Amino acid sequence: MANERGFMEIERRDPGYRPREERVKDYRAVERRLSRTQLVEQATRCMDCGIPFCCSTGCPLANVIPEFNDLVYRERWQDALDMLLLTNPFPEFTGRICPAPCETSCTLGINKEPVAIRQIEVSIIEGAFRRGLIEAAPPARRHDARIAVVGSGPAGMGVADVLNRQGYNVVVYEKNRHPGGLLRYGIPDFKLEKWVVERRIKLMEDEGVVFETGVDIGVDLSSRYLLDRFDAIVLAGGAEKPRDLPIPGRELDGVHFAMDFLTQQNKRNGGEAVEDAEISAKGKHVVIIGGGDTGSDCVGTSNRQGAVSVTQLEIMPEPPGERPDTTPWPLWPASRRDSSSHHEGCERRWSVQTESFEGAEGGVRKLKCCEVEWVTPKDGGRPSPQKVKGSDFLLPADLVLLSMGFVGPGTNRLIEDLELKLDPRGMIQRDAEHKASRSGIFVAGDITHGASLVVRAINDGFETAKSVMNWLQARPTD
Ligand SMILES: Cc1cc2nc3c(=O)[nH]c(=O)nc-3n(C[C@H](O)[C@H](O)[C@H](O)COP(=O)(O)OP(=O)(O)OC[C@H]3O[C@@H](n4cnc5c(N)ncnc54)[C@H](O)[C@@H]3O)c2cc1C
Ligand code: SF4
Repeated sequence: MANERGFMEIERRDPGYRPREERVKDYRAVERRLSRTQLVEQATRCMDCGIPFCCSTGCPLANVIPEFNDLVYRERWQDALDMLLLTNPFPEFTGRICPAPCETSCTLGINKEPVAIRQIEVSIIEGAFRRGLIEAAPPARRHDARIAVVGSGPAGMGVADVLNRQGYNVVVYEKNRHPGGLLRYGIPDFKLEKWVVERRIKLMEDEGVVFETGVDIGVDLSSRYLLDRFDAIVLAGGAEKPRDLPIPGRELDGVHFAMDFLTQQNKRNGGEAVEDAEISAKGKHVVIIGGGDTGSDCVGTSNRQGAVSVTQLEIMPEPPGERPDTTPWPLWPASRRDSSSHHEGCERRWSVQTESFEGAEGGVRKLKCCEVEWVTPKDGGRPSPQKVKGSDFLLPADLVLLSMGFVGPGTNRLIEDLELKLDPRGMIQRDAEHKASRSGIFVAGDITHGASLVVRAINDGFETAKSVMNWLQARPTD
């Protein structure tokens, strides 16, 4: 245990963000870092409580948190790094953008502020990069087996990293110009600067992973091509199809999916050409429909582009400020969260339904909305939204961003050609060993479990790689 009185004597300290006026003028990371002294001090707040819910219930990767906290307290940085990398291949991503379910299940969080685990994680890995402790370590020996991974997001990267380290030959195919999936084209730079992604891709390439970008599997290369050349195929193409809002006026100019808007800005930041017509918030009243994290990223991007006003609408009721009784510790609390983007300027409204988009000259000008009340049927079924009488209102809007989640991989030549079964939600069906309905095909990440988190995609990649190895090793030899 780091320091038996640490949690009583030391308060939690977060690094905070760059000043609002400064950060909205650029796309650089908004979050600051703790100093080395502050970090060691924060690590001493870990109680080593005996049953670490942070790793058993909270962290999907089961990071060995109390142990690395203790090693940070003792300033044994190399040991802390080794402990972290035991379970997490990419802590530089999770340490920046994970919502940290480990912290909401930290025992100290029952009656005090939890340990700043995510900050400790990112500082261990960034300190290691700075000190030159992270070097390419290609496997000493190679197997003959070749594995194709389709999709280079965190799930595909996780699969590729594990298999490559075990000496398998891995080619990752990516339809975009650069690898990284949503780490590269979805999540804005102000949360995750892209040099962080590029640094990891370079390391993986130096260790032997081959990334083939600009190749849309099913279009540029057929499934037959992969089946003929690879021993196993892992599909990790994400859940790309956004949920639509088919209401009157949907066809008007200025109504877009959130990802089309965010991808354009990420491309601009990366110096990449934007081929589609420009979607810009500059000088516009922006309304974002959907109160989640993707919507929050649209808020931050709209303010940086110079929006006149930004409003984020959510059909669900406003969550309570504190952890509600329905999600007691150590569960993930269903409470209200405001991101750094919300603090940069945004009106948030809950229990609001959009009934139509109103336009002029082909472009959207207003949203016709109403307030709703969530009513539970007398027989106790699921609550549904009921319009509140006389609550209609109009909102000015020149740009509307639809950010209501993702419904699955959508229409995809590859899935059709391989004749893979889908589950009732439209995701690719797989068994407990991550195998799809056709032999030799595995699935990982959002493409099968639906839109989720980076940490879950990495973990799923990890587990899928293990299944691939078991399957390859169990194959009969000729
Ligand atoms: C805007 C936004 C912000 C988010 N912010 C966070 C956050 O802050 N923290 C967090 O934990 N999670 C966040 N998420 C969720 C997280 O990004 C995803 O859960 C995660 O990236 C899923 O990983 P994946 O590898 O399964 O899929 P993806 O990251 O979607 O990667 C799939 C890749 O496969 C490629 N592909 C698909 N089909 C083909 C094909 N036929 N041929 C070749 N390539 C193909 C795609 O181009 C893509 O690059 C966010 C999501 C969005 C949309
Ligand atoms: S990956 Fe996420 S949940 Fe796990 S320790 Fe890091 S911040 Fe916590």
